[in-house]
Amino acid sequence: MNEIYDVIIIGGGVVGCGTARELTRRRARVLLLEKTNDICNGQSKANTAIIHGGYDAKPGTLKAKCNVLGSARGDQRHEELDVPVAWNTSLVVSFSLDGHAALEKLLDQGRKNGCRGELRIIDEKELREREPNVGSEAKEALLVGAGGIVCPYELTVAYAENAARNGAEFMRNAEVTEVKRLDIGHWQVVSTAGTFETRAVVNAAGTYADVFNNMVSERKVHIHPRRGEYYILDKKYKDAFHATMFQLPTRMGKGTLIAPTVDGTVLVGPTAEDIEDKEDKRTTAAGLEKALRQASLTWEHIPTRGFITTFAGLRATGDTGDFILGEPEDAPLFFNCCAIESPGLTSSPAIAKWTAEKIGEKLGLEPNPDFDPIRKSISKFREMSDEERAAAIAADPDFGKIVCRCETVTEAEIRESIRRPVGARDVDGVKRRTRAGMGRCQAGFCTPRVVEILAEELGISPLEVTKFGGDSKLLQGYLFEEDRENA
Ligand SMILES: Cc1cc2nc3c(=O)[nH]c(=O)nc-3n(C[C@H](O)[C@H](O)[C@H](O)COP(=O)(O)OP(=O)(O)OC[C@H]3O[C@@H](n4cnc5c(N)ncnc54)[C@H](O)[C@@H]3O)c2cc1C
Repeated sequence: MNEIYDVIIIGGGVVGCGTARELTRRRARVLLLEKTNDICNGQSKANTAIIHGGYDAKPGTLKAKCNVLGSARGDQRHEELDVPVAWNTSLVVSFSLDGHAALEKLLDQGRKNGCRGELRIIDEKELREREPNVGSEAKEALLVGAGGIVCPYELTVAYAENAARNGAEFMRNAEVTEVKRLDIGHWQVVSTAGTFETRAVVNAAGTYADVFNNMVSERKVHIHPRRGEYYILDKKYKDAFHATMFQLPTRMGKGTLIAPTVDGTVLVGPTAEDIEDKEDKRTTAAGLEKALRQASLTWEHIPTRGFITTFAGLRATGDTGDFILGEPEDAPLFFNCCAIESPGLTSSPAIAKWTAEKIGEKLGLEPNPDFDPIRKSISKFREMSDEERAAAIAADPDFGKIVCRCETVTEAEIRESIRRPVGARDVDGVKRRTRAGMGRCQAGFCTPRVVEILAEELGISPLEVTKFGGDSKLLQGYLFEEDRENA
């Protein structure tokens, strides 16, 4: 046992990292423990990236409240954190006039939830004017002006970087294995990176949050993973749809989305399949076939040759249908952020703020006068004008070396992604922070150079560089002895 912290956060997803940032608005010793090699490795990296408008959750639920609070347009946080966001609106399309009553119900629900901005049903004519590629069976839609899109990795990384700048500590490869209450009222947190004592715990462990709740409380909860599978379409198709295209849920299911992203790619998915294994993030032939079939209702001739990759994410679905927040009665100062499935990304600012406020009150934490809310993103060469590019190269010649040709990512950006607080440690970490490897060739060309840069920056052998930590090493050995000597 070593340090005594004010707060230990279990889990480095968007909720854990957001809560760390909110806590640093106060004078507090904060430690975040993440079991994998990097932050943003759970649900927060594999989702549809939508800022939900707030019409979908049942009125009165925590999901409804946090969604509407979290989606607030005009809120300072995207500017403060320099995170790309686009308010592209959402459309919930009905493919049968029988769906009108259901659209009215969603409209009413949205109003009850306090959905901000435009919220109205549009007819087929307006729908086709807005989205000329919508399928021939589309009849009308609910327009949700508060719907937007955000980069989920950039948001999570931005929260973490800003929290670290304001004093929070982050430990990765730190799997929490036990949480127990000590006689003096503090908590002991045992992890693979050490054993710590803390006054309060935040349980933001995603699909594993039930494990920690059930370790400390008799009020048991159960989270099961619900897998969602996706295709990603090349940027070439970025203008096919402007809004995020939902399908009106029917007895046949919730439907599948066509979802533009802030980076210009388009997501087709997700499916929703209840599974047992909390680690099973595979895509399946059946799941992808279903995603494509359902999405074809919205986009009749999806250009399947434009798919650049597939992925799956696991939702942390709880039994109550709602988020589980705050202290269980029998576990004071243990704060759950549990069952945070969709709209968890949207709700993360509200969940983080509420949790930090409650902890602040309970522990009597003073405001932190040195808190600085500003974080600047890595300068993106692909977004610079010619003059800006020339100036960037003059200041740092590494801006003149393009490593990822598909996404125009330079060596300077990759090096900075590793050097930043809570910086990248593996190839996927570089990818999430810079987009190197996210383009059309899916890292086919840039990986060798990214491995070399990681090895140089981290001071390790290229043989030790991994794709995502653990034993995911990319290189097996040297073909020639001289390469080993030169390494
Ligand atoms: C398919 C899908 C689509 C979605 N679409 C949207 C959307 O469009 N809009 C939206 O608002 N929301 C969406 N969501 C929901 C959203 O992604 C999540 O609610 C949100 O990311 C939850 O963040 P989190 O930090 O709670 O969990 P996570 O991101 O899962 O983070 C939990 C972290 O805890 C770590 N951890 C687990 N066990 C331990 C341990 N023992 N010790 C230390 N660390 C541990 C994990 O490694 C992980 O990094 C979607 C989710 C999925 C899966």
